[in-house]
Amino acid sequence: MPDAEVTARFLGTSSVLLRDEDTALLVDGFVTRPGLLRVALGKIAPDPRSVRGAMERLGTPPIAAVICAHSHYDHALDAPVWAALTRAELVGSESTANIGRGLGVPSERLRVVGDGDVTAFGAFEVTFVETVHSPDDRYPGVVDRPLVPPARSRAWRTGKVYSIFVTHPRGTVLVHASANFRSGALRGRTADVVYLGIGTVGKQPSEFIETYWDEVVRATGARRVVLIHWDDFFVGLDRPLRPLPRLADDLDRTMSHILPMAARDGVEVALPVAWQQTDPFSR
Ligand SMILES: [Zn+2]
Repeated sequence: MPDAEVTARFLGTSSVLLRDEDTALLVDGFVTRPGLLRVALGKIAPDPRSVRGAMERLGTPPIAAVICAHSHYDHALDAPVWAALTRAELVGSESTANIGRGLGVPSERLRVVGDGDVTAFGAFEVTFVETVHSPDDRYPGVVDRPLVPPARSRAWRTGKVYSIFVTHPRGTVLVHASANFRSGALRGRTADVVYLGIGTVGKQPSEFIETYWDEVVRATGARRVVLIHWDDFFVGLDRPLRPLPRLADDLDRTMSHILPMAARDGVEVALPVAWQQTDPFSR
């Protein structure tokens, strides 16, 4: 019997929906994307209409788990709303659990994971490897009590940061959302495809970019890299994605480093289109 088909859909930032016929896993699911002024000066809250709209646009997938790569608002703001609408488990660090508690996700559907933990959802097996946030973390620390929105964006503190390996009989996808690494942490683990976070990579020294590639892409032997967390997330998802402005990042510079390394290593690089359904393991 052939293995069930797996599809991936990118929703901007590091939000990715992976599913087979029976089970869907949502990484982050950040779709509210409040504007820059509100994020900088006001208070933010998830917009349940945006979440519901996204869920319908995705065909109301059977989401078993919403998994937060870390707890910043551009990862975890909407996750409790997805969990409430779908009855999925909310999975992540204790900080992520506190974000769930703030919006009333019941304790039996909060799953706190640590470094090396493995959890199964349908035919998917998810492994969490602790990593570190990209340099110059704007909101370091932990969310140490239930976070009730609306709140200042800085209330969504980092918590633990995870590399997320999603293994299915069809293959393994690694979602590595934050552009940094712990030396050697991913060695000995393999992935077919890396969803590689490149937020602020364009502002890093060349050596950093090269080591990042080695520690995440070469270390796991991936043959395909899908670039994530490059889009301007102060703009709504109803418009085409556009890169972060030059002041914040430099996508051209990132690409000018990554593409030659990918060519050298025989790795295919893709810039995903929001909402588009793809087969992460297609040849
Ligand atoms: Zn972050």
